[in-house]
Amino acid sequence: MTENLRIPQHARTVLISGASIAGPSLAYWLSRYGYAVTVVEKAPKLREGGFAVDFRGDAHRTVLERMGMWEEIHRRQTHMGVQSFVDEAGAEQVSVPAEFMSGDVEIFRGELSKILYERTRNSVEYIFGDSITSLEETADEVRVTFERTAPRSYDLVVGADGLHSHVRRLAFGDESLFLRHLGHYVAGYDVPNDLGLDRTARWLNAPGRGVSVNNYDGDPARAGVSMVFASPELTYDRRDIAAQKRILAEQYAGLGWEVPRLLKGLEETEELYFDAIAQVRMDRWSKGRVVLLGDAGYGATMGGMGTGLAVVCAYVLAGELATQRDHRAAFAGYEAEIREFVMGCQKTAEGAGGFLAPPTEKKIRTRNFTYRMLTSKVMSGILAKLTVKAANNIKLKDYPAQLASVRAAA
Ligand SMILES: Cc1cc2nc3c(=O)[nH]c(=O)nc-3n(C[C@H](O)[C@H](O)[C@H](O)COP(=O)(O)OP(=O)(O)OC[C@H]3O[C@@H](n4cnc5c(N)ncnc54)[C@H](O)[C@@H]3O)c2cc1C
Repeated sequence: MTENLRIPQHARTVLISGASIAGPSLAYWLSRYGYAVTVVEKAPKLREGGFAVDFRGDAHRTVLERMGMWEEIHRRQTHMGVQSFVDEAGAEQVSVPAEFMSGDVEIFRGELSKILYERTRNSVEYIFGDSITSLEETADEVRVTFERTAPRSYDLVVGADGLHSHVRRLAFGDESLFLRHLGHYVAGYDVPNDLGLDRTARWLNAPGRGVSVNNYDGDPARAGVSMVFASPELTYDRRDIAAQKRILAEQYAGLGWEVPRLLKGLEETEELYFDAIAQVRMDRWSKGRVVLLGDAGYGATMGGMGTGLAVVCAYVLAGELATQRDHRAAFAGYEAEIREFVMGCQKTAEGAGGFLAPPTEKKIRTRNFTYRMLTSKVMSGILAKLTVKAANNIKLKDYPAQLASVRAAA
């Protein structure tokens, strides 16, 4: 359902590249504000994979409540229990309670993407299986060509196409200018639930390597595997799944516990998420009529609350577009409102790789000791405050109320 709060005169058509979290979140707000929105997604259908993602703190909650999604996310949340860290013989070293890892509410990325899609599909045009090939900006519009769709023109173009954003490459330059490798890689895939896990996870660490098998949703048949390993930047083709499987098999060869079985599962999986733990650093997120949102502009990576960041920043970008006099003022407002928030989230994520895959046996023991300390009542309160601090570091304007009063006065 689209409720036009105000039809902006300065920019009515928007093309968004990417239909994961950031893109559909922005589409939700812009369509409510009266924009004609198209979302183009490279994948042939909505992508389903991905780890569980979480929301924490007031800013995430406020935006999700204003989107009317807070309850539904709770209905479809994961219910992760205690997670334990084991040694190569499978003996438990330390265990941590669920709330350490899963914020105020946790949901699979794919489920969240589905909720956003379901809420926008009737008011937004989605084009799947296509990608922008060129952008040409004139004084009044951006002319866009696609791999499949016939050329079109839009008032604005938004890159919400992830860490390896294609729009960023077209408008700002090669990703090597902006992507900062943080020294680790992350992978995720599904395996049969041979360990019979029920809403729990087990982690094994060896120096520079971490691997977990987890069951977030109580599915008796399916478990997820997550891998984090230290490595300098690797050269590989991001479309070549077999090459990525080979890298992982080499990294984890020779480890005990369940690892040989998990590597067998890796050989058989068709869906693999594999990427560098990297951050996007840019001085500006807009150029002319093109703007970046979510991971494309400021990918924070694991521990950086990238999903909450994308949802909150989409709210801000749409609100600024609907309330400012033109796109220049709106983009300047967007950048000013979110920069400090983004920086804080990126900062909290810098040590994530080293924490999940400590480089030496000694550091693994120290990390486990830290977990033991943090599970004490006093320390867990302190930890909760620290993680929420970055997530709350933004003062949100009430754009829907602002626009409703403009409409009432008109
Ligand atoms: C399938 C999948 C699995 C993920 N799994 C994890 C995970 O396990 N751990 C983790 O930390 N983060 C993961 N992420 C990233 C996480 O979703 C983001 O960090 C966060 O939610 C911010 O989302 P975003 O929408 O900005 O970017 P993303 O979620 O990365 O979404 C970008 C979207 O753009 C699309 N796209 C890419 N190129 C083009 C193009 N040329 N034209 C059109 N569309 C394009 C992609 O297919 C994707 O749908 C995953 C993302 C995806 C898409």
